[in-house]
Amino acid sequence: MEKEKLKIYIESKISELKEKLILYSKNSYSPYSKLRVVAALITKNSIYFGVNIENRSFGLTNCAERSAIFSAISNGDKDFEAIFIYSPDYDKPLPPCGACRQVISEFNYNIVIIMLSKDFSYEVKFIEELLPLNSLENLKDKN
Ligand SMILES: [Zn+2]
Repeated sequence: MEKEKLKIYIESKISELKEKLILYSKNSYSPYSKLRVVAALITKNSIYFGVNIENRSFGLTNCAERSAIFSAISNGDKDFEAIFIYSPDYDKPLPPCGACRQVISEFNYNIVIIMLSKDFSYEVKFIEELLPLNSLENLKDKN
């Protein structure tokens, strides 16, 4: 997608998603960090929301991005276009963590990643910027 078209796409999606992102962020289970995060994964035909789900055994915590991706995959949908990441508790564009970058890269290396801040200002990145040197990208083809 060319730059100007991408900007129009992103800004129209943000206005479409704004209220739902705020609404879904209330489903976040984040009693430890108090950082409510919601991800909206846009596929060719649908939208999947996911929230962060913490656990008192911290390693079991699941991020919003992975919640949204696992929901889409569970519903048989792998046509990922873009993922919007939002927190009403964070005042800068919120980037995905390392684990989520790896999971995002599994399904679409061209997905657009839109990192929102609480006032809905945003930054756009592609996975190749956030996770350069696509590790083991050919592993599936080896079998
Ligand atoms: Zn993450």
